[in-house]
Amino acid sequence: MKLTFLGTGTSQGVPVIGMNTPVARSKDKKDKRLRTSVLLSWGGVNVNIDCSPDFRQQMLRHKVQHLEAILFTHEHADHTAGLDDIRPFVLKQGDMPIYGLPRVIEQLRIRFAYIFAKENRYAGAPSVKVTEIEDYTPFLLFGKKVTPISIQHGTLPIIGYRIGNLAYITDAKYINEKELSKFYKVDTLVLNALRKAPHPTHLNLDEALTIIREVCPRQAFLTHMSQTMGFHAKVQKELPSQVFLAYDNLTIKVKE
Ligand SMILES: [Zn+2]
Ligand SMILES: [Zn+2]
Repeated sequence: MKLTFLGTGTSQGVPVIGMNTPVARSKDKKDKRLRTSVLLSWGGVNVNIDCSPDFRQQMLRHKVQHLEAILFTHEHADHTAGLDDIRPFVLKQGDMPIYGLPRVIEQLRIRFAYIFAKENRYAGAPSVKVTEIEDYTPFLLFGKKVTPISIQHGTLPIIGYRIGNLAYITDAKYINEKELSKFYKVDTLVLNALRKAPHPTHLNLDEALTIIREVCPRQAFLTHMSQTMGFHAKVQKELPSQVFLAYDNLTIKVKE
């Protein structure tokens, strides 16, 4: 499986509008972060996890010609706000299959009522084919087993995904032992780490490194970073050898 980091920034991206910090002024491309999502490719299919406000730019940047499904982690705008821009794929391919918790799908119905409307649809409105993920039950997606992982984003229960030998977890603050066991010794773990200082709803760097030590993946990539994490090049040097700060446009291989 191939994984492309489409965006690795927290909700406002890096740099943040109107903020003139040293990281904002960095000339290093790895310090420019669109909102978090990834593109997975296997067996000729493309699957996005989340649909960020930067979705259009991310699809154009990677010349994505087709997209077979979108898996949502949760309803926050930095993970869902690009949904209108599935239109070109819908015109070519038909309804876009989307997956998420019932609560998340309900939120999408409210925010994008016109996408879900049965009547008085306007020409060219995007359309979706919904699969609600009930009780974190595993399912098959284009031949791969997908295991939803229950994680806490502050007090909000959200989804991480194990897909084959990949575990993709963003916006976690807490994961219990039972859920951690679902991806023990996975080949590749992607995990959020917001910054060095603690935060009430996101893991910070130390908390993310503790989970990585416990889960023992072959390789781990940190994502969903704030500009307060610091310069990419500097923070990378402080990390254990199998842990990497992800950056936009990085492509990696997950061993099957
Ligand atoms: Zn987020
Ligand atoms: Zn969130």
